[in-house]
Amino acid sequence: MAKSYDVIVIGAGPGGMTAALYASRANLSVLMLDRGIYGGQMNNTAEVENYPGFKSILGPELGEKMYASATQFGAEYGYGTVNSIELQGEMKLVHTDEGDFEARSIIIATGSEHKKIGIPGEDEFGGRGVSYCAVCDGAFFKNKEVVVIGGGDSAIEEGLYLTQLASKVTVIHRRDELRAQKILQDRAFANDKMDFIWNAQVTTIEGDDKKVTGVTYIDKATGETKEVAASGVFIYVGIEPMTSAFGDLGILTDAGWIKTDDHMATSVPGIYAIGDVREKDLRQITTAVGDGGIAGQEVFKYLQSILLALAAV
Ligand code: FAD
Ligand code: NAP
Repeated sequence: MAKSYDVIVIGAGPGGMTAALYASRANLSVLMLDRGIYGGQMNNTAEVENYPGFKSILGPELGEKMYASATQFGAEYGYGTVNSIELQGEMKLVHTDEGDFEARSIIIATGSEHKKIGIPGEDEFGGRGVSYCAVCDGAFFKNKEVVVIGGGDSAIEEGLYLTQLASKVTVIHRRDELRAQKILQDRAFANDKMDFIWNAQVTTIEGDDKKVTGVTYIDKATGETKEVAASGVFIYVGIEPMTSAFGDLGILTDAGWIKTDDHMATSVPGIYAIGDVREKDLRQITTAVGDGGIAGQEVFKYLQSILLALAAV
């Protein structure tokens, strides 16, 4: 028999932890499942300075604080990768690699993961100079030169973090202007250790038999092929939704994000989606937390409506 809960929250990032807080505080039994440690993408973030209440806080530290809040009213935390959700009338059976669990309502908070750029050398030098996480791997490149590929918030924010460790950080961007927030751009342009190569498409990550030695790129203005020497290559070319477990439910957009209404409800009664995994404009900790609060309250209303309907029969 699968263990039964009022609500199963899939994903323990800022969105999922907030949903678990709200639902458990409403006296619902809650299981929060994650395939790894709680905290989600915050674990890959050095400093967060746009979460109200803290001038600046380390991402993992904010995760710890959110986890303490999320579990204070009895929400359980369980380890497991969710592979699918099976609809059984009103009940939903959640299949994980650690066993099955069931609930009347589900909140999907699985977020997103980094995209690969898809060039030669990327897989070959994974863990040997190619990284997607400056916080995790930056220390390997102390006083060495590194390249960051991308022009969004992640590339610039994590590139700035790397300037504290590396001797030089070269950002290679495919256009001539950054997508990142203005405040990050200003800091990057003012940083002596940061250099930019514009209008450049990286074509290969180069290396010897042991590790990365640099990248080759095409200068789009001239068509020339050029090289930059580097010991590390950090790739930040965007994110994609973590929704492979939910493809059968008919709740995904063509691009793979989960479509919801303003109440975070999907087209399947009792299934909600929040945070980065949702089709939305602004993917931030604050917006994931906001979504989580709404969904935590909505599942309470949904479960009340089921009880009232049963009582009326
Ligand atoms: P996530 O934080 O992505 O958490 C999702 C969780 O779901 C993960 O723990 C994952 O393990 C789990 N999961 C996924 N699939 C499954 C499955 N099948 N089964 C079980 N568990 C699963 N935002 C800011 O506001 N400020 C910042 O400074 C900032 N810096 C950032 C820096 C970087 C490098 C990146 C990549 C993002 C940054 N962001 C920042 C964005 C912010 O981290 C995200 O918007 C936020 O974490 C989204 O929260 P979430 O709860 O939706 O998902
Ligand atoms: P993003 O905003 O999608 O930016 C991706 C960058 O990579 C863009 O500059 C894009 O170029 C470039 N790119 C995409 N495909 C490429 C390719 N094949 N080759 C070379 N370059 C490529 O992704 P992100 O920066 O990871 O941010 C993801 C989300 O997290 C965003 O919502 C962001 O706001 C949020 N976030 C927030 C913070 C913060 O608030 N401090 C920090 C980090 C992330 P173009 O510009 O030409 O499209």
